[in-house]
Amino acid sequence: MPTTEPVRLSPEVELLAQAEQFLELARLSGDRCRELVALIDLGVVFWRGGDAVRAVTFLEPALEIAHELSDRPRELDILDNLAMAALASGQPSRAVKILEKVVAAAQQLGLRYQEKITWEHLASAYMSLKQGSEATCSLNAALSLARELGDEHHAADLLWYLAILNADMDQRDQAVRLAEEAITLYRKQSSPYVGWLTEHLRRFQDGAELRHANAKLGPKSPSPESVLGSWSVTTSTVAPSEPPPIRSDPGLLRMALSAAKSVSRFFSSGFQTVVQSTYERRLETCNACEHHTGVRCSLCGCFCSIKAWMPHEDCPVGKWPH
Ligand code: SF4
Repeated sequence: MPTTEPVRLSPEVELLAQAEQFLELARLSGDRCRELVALIDLGVVFWRGGDAVRAVTFLEPALEIAHELSDRPRELDILDNLAMAALASGQPSRAVKILEKVVAAAQQLGLRYQEKITWEHLASAYMSLKQGSEATCSLNAALSLARELGDEHHAADLLWYLAILNADMDQRDQAVRLAEEAITLYRKQSSPYVGWLTEHLRRFQDGAELRHANAKLGPKSPSPESVLGSWSVTTSTVAPSEPPPIRSDPGLLRMALSAAKSVSRFFSSGFQTVVQSTYERRLETCNACEHHTGVRCSLCGCFCSIKAWMPHEDCPVGKWPH
């Protein structure tokens, strides 16, 4: 049974401390492979925490070790994260160049989970360059892989991203259809954000109708830039308790998903977490799993110690006990 017992920790701070400790222990052990994994984890913790410059200081030495050990899968993981750090630093063209190579190499090596994650990242980089059709192709490639692999959590996010993209391109009916499809999947997963996303979608639809009516009357309609939301590396400052404005632009959908994806918001919003025993069994499973890096799941890219608290989350290959 879930509990509303508050989690007495700051998940991001705990995560950083854990990643730093893993690196220290790895260096003390003299095990280059452990050091490599710990460096990547720490780099990822930093860029996702908003410090891309610091992230690179861990990812670049990790790349050297990966070359030294001829560890091709981890090399691709590092390059993917270096590209995202570049994107976060305002270098989308550089990010695209790296990510295109990573996708090709992942396909060659049959690393389908890496390929899926990188397609999504590539879409984000294309969006920064305002290359909508390339971004659409990349998201569809990621969605197709997510479906093949049975990863419905990722599929739901990708459908919402496609909705944002279509809203950006002023294809509103298609945006609404995709967002509804995403909400159906989120509901199936018992996501606590279903009501939040549904309300934003309703406001987006109301805004589109208002805009259409205004256009008929003559006055200039609102700019199409803020109702559905953007994904990529942005973090939201919008609290789920605030009523969304009525707007016809994609920012509303962006805003909705950014808030739904905010880890600190999950813990501060009083959402139910799993009970301690379930959390521990999930983490034990991750710790014994070949896909666990130390702090991350290499299949879904999530931080296991955070994701394991969330009742609506699941292991992408069904390993968690039910
Ligand atoms: S979420 Fe699943 S695949 Fe990922 S590390 Fe945990 S047990 Fe392994």
